[in-house]
Amino acid sequence: MTENNIDGITGFFDIDPRLVELAESAQEELTESFKRIDRIAEYNTFKVLKAFTKNKVGENALHGTTGYGYNDLGRELLDRVYADSLGAKDALVRHSFVNGTHALSTALFGVLRPGDRLVMCTGSPYDTLEGVIGLRKQGGIRSGSLIDFGVEYGCVGLKSDGMPDHERIFESVKGAKVAYIQRSRGYSTRPSYTIDDIKRLVSVIREANPSAVIMVDNCYGEFVDRLEPCDVGADLEIGSLIKNPGGGIASTGGYIAGREELVSLCADRLTCVGMGKEVGASLNQNREMFLGFFIAPQTVASALKTSELACMMLNKLGFRSLPMAGLPRADIISSIEFGSVGPLTSFIRGVQKGAPIDSYVTPEAWDMPGYESKVIMAAGAFTSGASIEFSADAPIREPYAAWLQGGITYPSGKAGVLIAIQNMLDEGTLTL
Ligand SMILES: *Cc1c(COP(=O)(O)O)cnc(C)c1O
Repeated sequence: MTENNIDGITGFFDIDPRLVELAESAQEELTESFKRIDRIAEYNTFKVLKAFTKNKVGENALHGTTGYGYNDLGRELLDRVYADSLGAKDALVRHSFVNGTHALSTALFGVLRPGDRLVMCTGSPYDTLEGVIGLRKQGGIRSGSLIDFGVEYGCVGLKSDGMPDHERIFESVKGAKVAYIQRSRGYSTRPSYTIDDIKRLVSVIREANPSAVIMVDNCYGEFVDRLEPCDVGADLEIGSLIKNPGGGIASTGGYIAGREELVSLCADRLTCVGMGKEVGASLNQNREMFLGFFIAPQTVASALKTSELACMMLNKLGFRSLPMAGLPRADIISSIEFGSVGPLTSFIRGVQKGAPIDSYVTPEAWDMPGYESKVIMAAGAFTSGASIEFSADAPIREPYAAWLQGGITYPSGKAGVLIAIQNMLDEGTLTL
């Protein structure tokens, strides 16, 4: 055996040896960052294992139910395991949430009533929530949005540095029923917020309005840090199972975790008032949801390292990334600015080439519903659309940035990053 793999791996995918050297030195420089990521993954793995053992998850919990889904032990224990791991009192983890937006929508409709006020504390929400809230013009008068149901809406813009505006939030949340925080930045260029940022926000909101329901969109944030939003005082936290907490294993689903009476309102909204959490067949999903959640801390660590490596290599090649490599992260997302359409497209196509599924497909930019400009996407995933798997997408507009995320194992993520950058060389949009 040779001491390093360099000669070997250049051969599998025809990778320029200089790129492999660059990857090796980038990885070397990331030693401290990787250690920090590993320590967090270790902590969170212990935490999740504790939740499994404390709740006595047995082999029988891995089997599902059919029909009404009464007495579904697996479903009930999965809720307990999520709650205990995510710093919450209760949780609603269901494969029947069709995506993260559905879970967020269920929580908003579950808690808000006509005449109540919803305040976004972290600027405009993620694009798909515009429909839920009623910010988009839609056909017909009765859109069924929150605003259509008589919910009042307010949004506090961010400060010029992209951070929450505490003073204005303090004034705006007075009298609000729900104060909403979005942890990850979506397609905006603000920073994603750390658990400390969320903790500060929670204390500002609490001081202004002790009874506000503080709801956090936790998408892409789970297990990136030791604590979760509910650990630092949020009332509800919500996310998608084809992102971090599904561990790359769950086929679909979402979760809502938080205070018991609020989770119960959400469950009544998801199923029927009076039935709440007591129904809903888990079919054959329990095993993969348990397994996915069990490995999720490690999957998140792999995704974080993949992101770090991509940023470090591309930073060294002269491209700016948000965040820059080596800094502590609040989520698994990186955006990398390519400055023009050529290198951006080559990179995205290279990400597709480096994916295990559909590697032979060439992504094209298309008019995605709900987006202003064309979008190009690379997604060669075992689970359709799963962004915990190595994937990238980019709106074709200034500053020609690719949003990169995922990597369910670090070595496969590393290979993917190398193949993506090699594709820039091959297409002549990058020279070394
Ligand atoms: C992914 C995401 C969502 C939910 O998106 P879905 O595609 O519906 O799962 C919501 N908020 C943020 C910040 C996200 O990143």
